[in-house]
Amino acid sequence: MLQRYAVLGNPIKHSRSPQIHQLFATQFGHQLQYDAIELPIGRFSESLRDLVEQGLKGANVTVPFKQDALAFADAQTERARLAGAANTLVFEEGRTLADNTDGAGLVSDLQRLYGALSDTHVVLIGAGGAARGVVLPLFNAGVGKITLMNRTLERAYELADMFAEHGDICAISINAVTEKPADIIVNCTSSSLHGELPGVSAELFRGVAFAYDMFYSDDKTTFLLFAEDAQPNIRTADGIGMLVGQAAESYRLWWGVEPDVAKVIESLRP
Ligand code: NDP
Repeated sequence: MLQRYAVLGNPIKHSRSPQIHQLFATQFGHQLQYDAIELPIGRFSESLRDLVEQGLKGANVTVPFKQDALAFADAQTERARLAGAANTLVFEEGRTLADNTDGAGLVSDLQRLYGALSDTHVVLIGAGGAARGVVLPLFNAGVGKITLMNRTLERAYELADMFAEHGDICAISINAVTEKPADIIVNCTSSSLHGELPGVSAELFRGVAFAYDMFYSDDKTTFLLFAEDAQPNIRTADGIGMLVGQAAESYRLWWGVEPDVAKVIESLRP
């Protein structure tokens, strides 16, 4: 039987989620209808209730509705609650479960590209929704220390306080350097969207093995070019694998199977 899923956002036209979920469905021979649906701003709950009545089984949720999605649900996973946002909804027997799979997407991509995360030191640049969503999953994957940096330092302090009971976490200003080089630096800001740099110093990358930009594009991002310039031999990657990874985790929740992520990432590359 054809099962209906969707990604909900505004705007949503350019979402790659329908393509990714169809590629997963092909791997398992599932019959799937997965649409990109633009919901009107300010009418998330009413619009979603209509879709659920029409038979929607699950949804991915993106900007600007991730907080609305969390509030809509009857139950929330811990990682969604701590992220303060949901990107995945499951509709079952008249109830809605909210989850957040962004952090799992980042963790699986770092493990694929860098290796085991146990006892690593990870620097997160940014303190917005994306950074907040990945802190707990990184600690749960064994990361030993997280240093937060943000243009607005106060927001980094707030995040560090929020997660202090979950692991070794601190905040430093955006142009500071860590005492010892980090193992991995992740750009969780939206600076690359506008071809800008987040304001960190080149020195931050000295001795660092791996730099990751959550933003993804067909061309190498300004942040990754900066990292390669600052530290020759540094390995770099953008966030396309995180996107596929979060989709795979949603797919697992809905269908109970684990898609082959690497194959799908490969087919999305230009
Ligand atoms: P938010 O709007 O919640 O946060 C934006 C963050 O970026 C803040 O920390 C802000 O700093 C910082 N920032 C923005 N512009 C600049 C700049 N020019 N210089 C320095 N800092 C800047 O966005 P999100 O956290 O939701 O998303 C961040 C990025 O992550 C986006 O590019 C998004 O596309 C990407 N993302 C990728 C995913 C994937 O699957 N690959 C999943 C989720 C997000 P300040 O606090 O000072 O304003």
